[in-house]
Amino acid sequence: MCDGKARWSDVRVYISVDLEGVAGVVSPAQLVSGTAYEEARRWMTAEVAAAVRGAQSAGARQVVVNDAHEAMTNLRLEDLPPGIEVISGKPKALGMMCAIDAGWDLAFLLGCHARQGSGGLLSHSYSATTITRVQLNGREVGELGMNIALAHSCNVPVRLVTGDAAAVAEALELFPGLRTVAVKRAYGRQSARTLTPGEACSRIEAAAREAVASRQSDEKRAWQPQQPYTLAVDFVSPVMADAVSYMPLTRRESPCRIVMEQAELAVLFRAFQAMLTIAGAVTP
Ligand SMILES: [Zn+2]
Repeated sequence: MCDGKARWSDVRVYISVDLEGVAGVVSPAQLVSGTAYEEARRWMTAEVAAAVRGAQSAGARQVVVNDAHEAMTNLRLEDLPPGIEVISGKPKALGMMCAIDAGWDLAFLLGCHARQGSGGLLSHSYSATTITRVQLNGREVGELGMNIALAHSCNVPVRLVTGDAAAVAEALELFPGLRTVAVKRAYGRQSARTLTPGEACSRIEAAAREAVASRQSDEKRAWQPQQPYTLAVDFVSPVMADAVSYMPLTRRESPCRIVMEQAELAVLFRAFQAMLTIAGAVTP
């Protein structure tokens, strides 16, 4: 194409995947290590594989998957389809959205959970032991809000979100008309009615195919905070805010609240990764 845009058969797809919003995952025991975790990471890998198959069948040429949960080494690489690459491990700049930039045509956010305090399954914002609330330009957001805003600030439309029903509802609040797959519905923070992994994968594969094949663009309906960007983070304890307040360009608004303003959302996002690391390193 002479306009420099990718032909649709050359679509480049960026995928970020978390674990809490994968079908069948309901308990903290499935999230970190042990037999239940090994089973959960297989389901996570299967959902990613389904999304990749769907995207590739609609003509995606390049697919990169960012492993975005805990140690970020969850995906079983040998179980993923050929022709893709995986971003694995941490720390990495932009964390859950490592390597997002204007070079992608669209993004998928898979395995998502709702924000802290929302009542969704396994809901939290980055770390339940560190953060009670995050606001971006005055709006309360969780990981979904931050990730969608960052992708869209890079002109990369988010075209598919999967996760529990609360996560999907949160995404739709931010971006009405977004394509979503709800794989389970919370009965409580650690119990849910869930699709089986096989059924979830079928639905995700179909949605991914449609997301790539559809040329319709609804991004204008998405919430997009404007420059300058202001991030307000409420930490669990004042000692965490003490430690974070030593970062340059931060402002202490209250004993537990740190505020930072930046012209570029990616810069603010990187600073937020540092805040999380610092706050997580102190004993509350
Ligand atoms: Zn996670």
